[in-house]
Amino acid sequence: MFILPKIILHNTFTDKLQADPDTTNTRRQVYHACYSWVSPKGMKDPSMIIYSKDLAFDLGIEKSFCQSSDFAKMMVGNVLATGSKPFAMCYGGHQFGNWANQLGDGRAINLGEIQTPIGHMNLQLKGAGPTQYSRTADGFAVLRSSVREFLCSEAMFYLGVPTTRALSLTLTGEDVMRDMMYNGNAAYEKGAVVCRVAPTCIRFGNFELLSVRKDYENLKHLLDFTIKEYFPEISSQKDKYILFFESVSASTCKMIVEWQRVGFVHGVMNTDNMSILGQTIDYGPYGWLDDYDPNWTPNTTDLPGKRYRFSNQPLIAQWNIMQLANALYEIIPDETTLNQIIQDFKLQYETEYLGMMCKKLGLSLNIDGDGNLIFDLEKMLQLTETDFTIFFRELSKIEVSMSLPQILNIMKPSYYAENLSEETLREIYTWFISYQNRLKMENQNSIARKTIMNQVNPKYILRNYMSQLAIEEANQGKYDLIHELHEMLKKPYDDQPKYEKWYAKRPNWAKEKVGCSMLSCSS
Ligand code: AMP
Ligand code: MG
Repeated sequence: MFILPKIILHNTFTDKLQADPDTTNTRRQVYHACYSWVSPKGMKDPSMIIYSKDLAFDLGIEKSFCQSSDFAKMMVGNVLATGSKPFAMCYGGHQFGNWANQLGDGRAINLGEIQTPIGHMNLQLKGAGPTQYSRTADGFAVLRSSVREFLCSEAMFYLGVPTTRALSLTLTGEDVMRDMMYNGNAAYEKGAVVCRVAPTCIRFGNFELLSVRKDYENLKHLLDFTIKEYFPEISSQKDKYILFFESVSASTCKMIVEWQRVGFVHGVMNTDNMSILGQTIDYGPYGWLDDYDPNWTPNTTDLPGKRYRFSNQPLIAQWNIMQLANALYEIIPDETTLNQIIQDFKLQYETEYLGMMCKKLGLSLNIDGDGNLIFDLEKMLQLTETDFTIFFRELSKIEVSMSLPQILNIMKPSYYAENLSEETLREIYTWFISYQNRLKMENQNSIARKTIMNQVNPKYILRNYMSQLAIEEANQGKYDLIHELHEMLKKPYDDQPKYEKWYAKRPNWAKEKVGCSMLSCSS
């Protein structure tokens, strides 16, 4: 394989942890190892659709290299950077509440790490071909799901939500067969690869699989490695294992609070999709709230129980943390403390959720009764279809002195006027009167409040229909919309007059259209 001199990669994970001694790329159970060596398959005709200039800059990758065809080749695995020794991780996971045994990187190939001023960053190609962990699938990814992962992980980053990042989105020049609706109508789609970037993609499931297999030696190695590399501040402490678990629980909790803040629904919160760093990972059938519906799940596979619905995300995160505790129990045999940390998750969540919602409402003082105001708001938002993002953005314009008709006039863009009955209006007014009364207790002026609110209530999010429009164009070889959305999503909190048309409720045509609301796991 051709080696690129411009980028030098390191391999901390593989240097320190146990490799699968069998180097053949055959699908199988891999025991007593944390990863397997695997070469990307190589693609027919790679071409770059878009890359993140900011991230490339942060990684120290030269602009001229990014613009060269070698970059596209590297971003699908046709050429390797100096020092790169590609591998796929071995992990398991609980899927929809059930133990699924070995899963692993079935279509993700890690290239190695770039050293940057902010630490190592691992580059991972998603969709670069089969690995030992591909099970019955092909190891590839289609353009549609890759566009969604690229745009959404970028959007989340600029929103300030902890996330893995996407360096590039590259067409492979190969076709991939998918049955998108799981209804027997398989068809060819364009193949693509996203290069995912994170300090590490270690998941809860990496620990779970070793624990279930009673491979405590590798479990301890993995745990010690993870702490040393990614939690250096606790690595020399006596109770480092407990501190580690506490820290993972806390960062996971913070991530969920951020999801609830921006209206993001992950859709597949299986333990193999939970990063040990508390970063959003694995953008599959995720979705964004259009109207505020706490029971909404974007994932058609999740429909029977709606396990991964918006309002259930904190509870599931806590359940996932409990699975991590089970996996670590052999090394941290302190049931009382582990249980306490799991219980504390709920308390931390409630406290941080309250603080976050107060910020969304522009409330800077901590006053008894704010919890009730938020509870009533959540009920009020469900009385009629209310756009979650627009509601909070417009809310910053409300002043204490405004009359109810003035308030309605401002809040109008978040509602469907034809749905507003007299009774609904009365209840909406009742809430706004409480809100205005509460605002009277604040000592900051309305301009300061607005500025602060607009820093937590984004104006632009990646609505599901926007990705779908970008995908439809991309399937025809047009990428302008991907670039436009990417640009817009870099400044989600700013007023950007040239993108005003994207600050609007989901259009009616998008309500039932495939890809604009719910999605299957097909990717
Ligand atoms: P996900 O639902 O995307 O988190 O994937 C769950 C598991 O299925 C992981 O082990 C993935 O690597 C694997 N997987 C998903 N899609 C593919 C594919 N096209 N080829 C091989 N493995 C896959
Ligand atoms: Mg996954």
